[in-house]
Amino acid sequence: MFERRPAPVDTRAPHGSTNAYLLSDGGSERVLVDPAARTDALDEATESGGVDHLAVTHAHPDHVGAAAHYAGSTGATVWAHAGFADRFERETGVVPDRLFRPGDELGASGVVVLDTPGHAPDHVAFLADGEAATGDLVFADGSVFVGAVDGDMRAYLSSLRRLATRDLDRLHPGHGRLHPGHGPPVENPRERLHALYAHRRDRERRVLAAVADGCSTVDAILDHAYDKDLSGVRDLAGQTVRAHLDKLLVDGRVDWDGAHAYPVED
Ligand SMILES: [Zn+2]
Repeated sequence: MFERRPAPVDTRAPHGSTNAYLLSDGGSERVLVDPAARTDALDEATESGGVDHLAVTHAHPDHVGAAAHYAGSTGATVWAHAGFADRFERETGVVPDRLFRPGDELGASGVVVLDTPGHAPDHVAFLADGEAATGDLVFADGSVFVGAVDGDMRAYLSSLRRLATRDLDRLHPGHGRLHPGHGPPVENPRERLHALYAHRRDRERRVLAAVADGCSTVDAILDHAYDKDLSGVRDLAGQTVRAHLDKLLVDGRVDWDGAHAYPVED
């Protein structure tokens, strides 16, 4: 079961709020995910049912704001990604009680960790009974930001595939839902994951075409590769283009030195 409790936060992600979730998998132990801010609704939800475990999908400020508060008020076991415990402690101010690795179950909650880096290096999803809390991996509408220091487009595409292979809607007919960090649930995981993947591959093709046409700077590539009006989001789109170029460099498909991109000579 996934109880959603949105909290208003300062974020550029869609909806201006972050969803905290209370997860349980039929058993008695409950997991609190992404307590971004303190709200009356979350106070009530945590007090009425109790919370046994606390974890975040990734330690960005708009997902962890009330982690310290709810760790204290609930006495929950606080978990962090084994590879990123320092980052967790720095961003939340909480020393984790336990560390998880991908594939681990949080205590005896039935909630299992799936490795999903890309939006951030420490990003994970939490699976329970055919549903998943997916943080900033998937939104029901719009695309996730992958760029700047934390973003890794190669990893992001792999993470979309990794979640898609779980085949939640086929294996769990009627309730194979995804629960994003921002906005409403995704009722059709397979279709949505496929659409997000196709969107990134399409953008990659456009970036590659722009470079082939002689655009070498991020600005020039932006004008060439995006049809939509970028006012207000041009900086984010520029960072996304950089993430695509980083991937294309690793793939051996462009020369890219961080300032200028050129086609690879055959
Ligand atoms: Zn984030």
